[in-house]
Amino acid sequence: MEENVKVVETGNNSKHGENRCPQCGASDVTYNINKKKLVCNYCFTEFDAEDVIGIEKNVENLNEEIRGSGTKDINNNVDDIITLKCGGCGAEVVINTKEAVNARCHWCRSILSINSQIENGAVPDVVLPFDLDKKVAEEKIKAFVEKRKFFAHPIFKREFTTNNIMGVFFPYMLIDANCHGSYSGEGGHVARSYEIVVGKDDDGKEKKETVYDIDVFHIERNFDILIDDLSIESSLDKLNKSNKTKTTNIINSIMPFDTDKCVKYNSNYLAGFTSEKRDVNVGDLEEKVYKELKDVTRHSLNADLKYYDSGVKWEKEELDIKGKQWISAYLPVWLYSYQDTKKVLHYVAVNGRTGEVMGSIPMNKKKLFFISLLIDILIFAFIYYFTNGSDNSGFLVFYLFLIVGPIYYHSKSSKYRNKGARHKYETETKNTITNMKKVDDKKRTLRERSSRSLPGANNYKLDGEKVKVKDSK
Ligand SMILES: [Zn+2]
Ligand SMILES: [Zn+2]
Repeated sequence: MEENVKVVETGNNSKHGENRCPQCGASDVTYNINKKKLVCNYCFTEFDAEDVIGIEKNVENLNEEIRGSGTKDINNNVDDIITLKCGGCGAEVVINTKEAVNARCHWCRSILSINSQIENGAVPDVVLPFDLDKKVAEEKIKAFVEKRKFFAHPIFKREFTTNNIMGVFFPYMLIDANCHGSYSGEGGHVARSYEIVVGKDDDGKEKKETVYDIDVFHIERNFDILIDDLSIESSLDKLNKSNKTKTTNIINSIMPFDTDKCVKYNSNYLAGFTSEKRDVNVGDLEEKVYKELKDVTRHSLNADLKYYDSGVKWEKEELDIKGKQWISAYLPVWLYSYQDTKKVLHYVAVNGRTGEVMGSIPMNKKKLFFISLLIDILIFAFIYYFTNGSDNSGFLVFYLFLIVGPIYYHSKSSKYRNKGARHKYETETKNTITNMKKVDDKKRTLRERSSRSLPGANNYKLDGEKVKVKDSK
């Protein structure tokens, strides 16, 4: 671990076992989604959510590196299977912390919980309880699938049911950063556009082309930026968004969550749901996180760079991190999964807070192919009929229209697979820029450019996306 890292104990240091109701002593305390509270199922006492103590709420106050104790490096010698002795009857109850952090004693029905942080990544600092009812999630998933029924694979159509939708808590890291940026480069502004003669065509007519004069400015930006809750998956499986056998990008795309509503971890919030434990450490994510913080900064600056409609080419992007905080969290997702005949696991996922839904549906590719072909044939027949098959220009049009089929094919298959769907962290992460100092000096004009854009413009690039997180274990 690095120097200057302050670890904040977020665990309540309570023992594994029953979380007993202080009123009546029952262990059956679960989260009630309608009341948005933990409720004792025996005496109906309601409990208010607890705040995490010790973590910094105000990003501006961060001037060191703080880490919640739930982000501690995973110790691979710690077994995922934990055996607890039931306090009710003395039976031994096994909890597989890979999938859940509580279990019901099969003898006396007491609920046993994993309460203190174990070094296998199963217990985070905070949890965001479900806000969206299962019924609502089912409706959303049904509606999503309904819109994609026509080309859906017949086996999928037959087998689709919302009965097996699951509530899952996935592991994430939430990162706050208090940074100072000093950026410099060039900005381009289209001063004018006009037509010039570029030669003559065969008939002696002048050929014209639109060109642009671009004013080039030297620009500097010095500023402070506070970035609040950059959220990143902390399981290798979900980080691998180009996975060929699972459509994990779907789960990524339903972010962001309202992470400011996270509460102190209490396993009772997770009772009745499954949870997937974290399997990556802070160190594994550091490079990706730094690049994503820079991406957020770059995109945030664009709001103030509208004048440079040709783009900005940053030559220096120095982002100094004055203070940073890492918190591990469980965030709620309603999930429908389906394995197709080619062994690809498809997901339809609903954000358990915002209700944002995204999915991938296995397709009947043959049907889509034939319908696309049919569209091309019909267009061919139509044009042939109206041109009597003789007019050359008609055939040019025909060749152009031949691409309608392939376009149709691609648009449909992308609607069903949603391969490009992703969380746009660069614009969806909360941030505030203050203390901005600017320099904008006009340097020169590029004349008669055939394109509007400044050569080398890079103010919309994304670097964090490209970082592959490796398995360090
Ligand atoms: Zn009670
Ligand atoms: Zn028992």
